[in-house]
Amino acid sequence: DVLPYVGDNVEIEISPDGTGYVTSIEKRKNFFIRPPIANVDLLLIIVAMANPSPDFLFLDKMLIQAKMAEVEAVICFNKSDLVTPDETSFAKIYTNLGYKVFTTSTYTGEGISDLKDAISGRVISVCGFSGVGKSSILNAILGNENQEVGEISRKLSRGKHTTREVSLIEYTNGSYLADTPGFSSLSLPEKITKDSLKDYFPEFENYETNCRFSDCVHISPKFCGVCEALDKGLISLSRYNNYKTLYDGLKDKKEWK
Ligand code: GDP
Ligand code: ZN
Repeated sequence: DVLPYVGDNVEIEISPDGTGYVTSIEKRKNFFIRPPIANVDLLLIIVAMANPSPDFLFLDKMLIQAKMAEVEAVICFNKSDLVTPDETSFAKIYTNLGYKVFTTSTYTGEGISDLKDAISGRVISVCGFSGVGKSSILNAILGNENQEVGEISRKLSRGKHTTREVSLIEYTNGSYLADTPGFSSLSLPEKITKDSLKDYFPEFENYETNCRFSDCVHISPKFCGVCEALDKGLISLSRYNNYKTLYDGLKDKKEWK
């Protein structure tokens, strides 16, 4: 792909008339296709705990995407003011997996400064469904000092929404935020197959050694160490169900050899 992505480090040549063009693109540390962006340090995934209610399938898909791109993922459960503390217990599923998790409220200010500390100095991409509080959080963290430094629109050949805009916002010395308006959902990266999907669920790893067959995909409970761990409550049922949902989706996908 020779098209520049937002976040690319490029060399440009400026003509005497002031117009310029990109002559080369530096090797990318990583890149995402949806939304199109390169060289992200950190993916901030924002999920509301209520209004709209949390979509864990979306969250788990984004975590797969981040793991695949080898980008650190930070999870923000927003709107904590709308739920009781025991309704936030699912956050533990993700802290147990090793993710940085923040419960925040832009109304009470809970968690905002901790989140700010965690993401400062990094190139960040933010994702989450419309209405979860992305703009409110970014405003709370960035204030009004942010400045748009780059913008790109790409025409996509497929789908109803033919244009997608991504922009980079500079907010402190050398840190950038990739704002991704219109971002809502995504499909799994093409590279992931029904057989490799399990590798993106790190909690399976400890129990896979108990599966009788080395190519076990942990769907049929017979002789399966992961299913056994699930029965014992050692693996989150919500995570496992999302695995199964994604697995079923991949199973139906035609595989090209
Ligand atoms: P975005 O679409 O993800 O950018 O979400 P917005 O930032 O526009 O917020 C959507 C709605 O949720 C707005 O009405 C906000 O006032 C509200 N909202 C944002 N953060 C919070 C929060 O922490 N608690 C509550 N109760 N509402 C919030
Ligand atoms: Zn198994």
